[in-house]
Amino acid sequence: MTSPAARTALDLTDGLPVPDLEDFYRDLHRHPELSLEEHRTAGKLAGRLKEAGFETAEGIGGTGVAGVLRNGDGPTVLLRADLDALPVQEETGLPYASEADGVMHACGHDLHVTWLVGAAEALAAGRETWNGTLLVVGQPAEETGQGAARMVADGLYERFGRPDVLLGQHAAPGPAGLYPHAPGLIMSASTDVDIVVHGRGGHGSRPESTVDPVVTAAYLVTRLQTVVSRELAAREAAVLTVGRIEAGTRHNIIPSEARIELNLRTQSAEVRERMLAAIRRIAQGECLAAGCPREPEITLGNTFPETVNDVGTDTAVAAVHREVFGAAAVFDPGPAMGSEDFPQLALGSIPYSYWFVTTTPAEVWEQAPGASFPEKFSAVPSNHSPRFAPDLSTVAPGVRTLVSGALAFLSVA
Ligand SMILES: [Zn+2]
Ligand SMILES: [Zn+2]
Repeated sequence: MTSPAARTALDLTDGLPVPDLEDFYRDLHRHPELSLEEHRTAGKLAGRLKEAGFETAEGIGGTGVAGVLRNGDGPTVLLRADLDALPVQEETGLPYASEADGVMHACGHDLHVTWLVGAAEALAAGRETWNGTLLVVGQPAEETGQGAARMVADGLYERFGRPDVLLGQHAAPGPAGLYPHAPGLIMSASTDVDIVVHGRGGHGSRPESTVDPVVTAAYLVTRLQTVVSRELAAREAAVLTVGRIEAGTRHNIIPSEARIELNLRTQSAEVRERMLAAIRRIAQGECLAAGCPREPEITLGNTFPETVNDVGTDTAVAAVHREVFGAAAVFDPGPAMGSEDFPQLALGSIPYSYWFVTTTPAEVWEQAPGASFPEKFSAVPSNHSPRFAPDLSTVAPGVRTLVSGALAFLSVA
């Protein structure tokens, strides 16, 4: 343990109120709220920040929270957690399972808020050990890709100052106690696409008098599978998933339209543009082949940018995490196909580090089928699963990652 940041972080997190933070987490888990409805969650976070001495504001960009602690000359470090839950019916069977029907913290954002509270309180209590400004952000609507951009558009940085560095972390599957870092691309871009196929409806017994959009949509879904497999080079990582297809009302009615909703994951703007062009070409081609009376409508929905860590920033955070947790606990997992709206907080130029904290309970990991890491990794409940249940043993370490990461940039005495 050599660096002042690591030493100070361990000092400041030595007496963490772990039972209190666990209670805070269980309360958030019981009361999940959907994107831009995170009023209770935001209030809980803001309350703790105020108590810890932060100048705090709520309602930024809808339901966002920011707290600032100005503590002398030095850099401004932003710590971010996201607030929202998902429309998932919880199946964990936990005693503190969701009490909201059909809504669940299935992505671990309740844990993120808990980590943020623990870190904000520890850094505030130990403010004589560092100089600079700590900006703590509770961001709404990560799951819909709106929240970060909304907070920025609502004057987050005009009101609280523009940070010099951004830090964020996410709960992830994997045996609890690992801190994957990638000095560069770590998360992919995501693009939603909606396609409406226009046919001509009629009686199911007389298809010759119709243009059946169900059959055209079926060809389209199949043909879209060739975009990744036949149009991209093997070295280019991308995913195209049709997640929803909808048409018709009854067995014997040929409907007049079919709707397809698909999602792309890409790791470069060039591949994204190429895939969108292929989707347009294939949709138009299938509709032309079927004799549709109109061209298909193709519209873009929610999008998330790539998350690309600044190499110097992430290397510095990974280094302090190695000191705090041991070298074996920090490794480069390579880029994931998941997506984040965290980069929207960077405005294209503020350097940031975004890393993962693995949260699968040890016994769940051990009992998962398979012998290798990849086999177990694909077998344990992951984010967005109704059985996603982070281990409570990760509460304190997730506070330590944030505190040590912040101290790597704040001026430590
Ligand atoms: Zn999520
Ligand atoms: Zn998430």
